[in-house]
Amino acid sequence: MSRLAVTRITHSCHLIEIAGATVLTDPWFSQKPGYHPGEPIALTVPELPHLDAILISHRHYDHCDLDALDALPDKATPIICCRTVAKSARAHGFSTVTPLAPWERTTVGPVTVTAAPAAHQVEEITFVLQGAGRTVYFAGDTTFIPELHDLPRRFPAIDLALVPTNGLRLRPLLNKKVVMDAHDAADLVALLRPRVAIPHHYAFTSGPIGDRILTKSDRDPEAFALAAHEASPEADVRILRPGERTDLALTAPSEA
Ligand SMILES: [Zn+2]
Repeated sequence: MSRLAVTRITHSCHLIEIAGATVLTDPWFSQKPGYHPGEPIALTVPELPHLDAILISHRHYDHCDLDALDALPDKATPIICCRTVAKSARAHGFSTVTPLAPWERTTVGPVTVTAAPAAHQVEEITFVLQGAGRTVYFAGDTTFIPELHDLPRRFPAIDLALVPTNGLRLRPLLNKKVVMDAHDAADLVALLRPRVAIPHHYAFTSGPIGDRILTKSDRDPEAFALAAHEASPEADVRILRPGERTDLALTAPSEA
């Protein structure tokens, strides 16, 4: 049985161990005015383990901290990203950059990475990782769009889903919702039927002034846990603190 594990670093930044590979999602290791993780950042870039790939869903700073990745010693580390991130990643010296459009795929060692649709303020993709009989879905920022209904048709057995849950709204845009909220995320989990669901993207704050004039969000991941238990009682929801690692010691269907 191959290992599937997740360590949450902060916000949407995780280490996913799948098929013996380690993949970093949506790197964010710093903060600046208007952008605060709202929780500790568990690791610095020099403290990261060897990475087999880095996934970047879109170019917003809280998901695409390329300045911090300058400290990464190996610039041949593969970066798999949406098209609008590729040029910046290459400008930061990364030599192995693979931009994907929805439903395109690539491989890194034993892991296949397929891009899935997303809808946010800017071009974005979500990701499906497959390796050693395990399947993981990772969404950085997206609303729950009809295109995501293709996911369970293409990937009927998802072991783990990592979903954003803060329902981020932009006050200057008449409170337009640009990230799924707890109920949207619970509906997505009911659609994907993963064995384990992990919420992220909830502690974020724009700061005391920004939260009043720019953004509005739900910072409590328990709202997702409650909604997910209602929408799909069988889902195992795990809320991870920064630095916490969870191991999905799951028996693959073929081994059951
Ligand atoms: Zn975000």
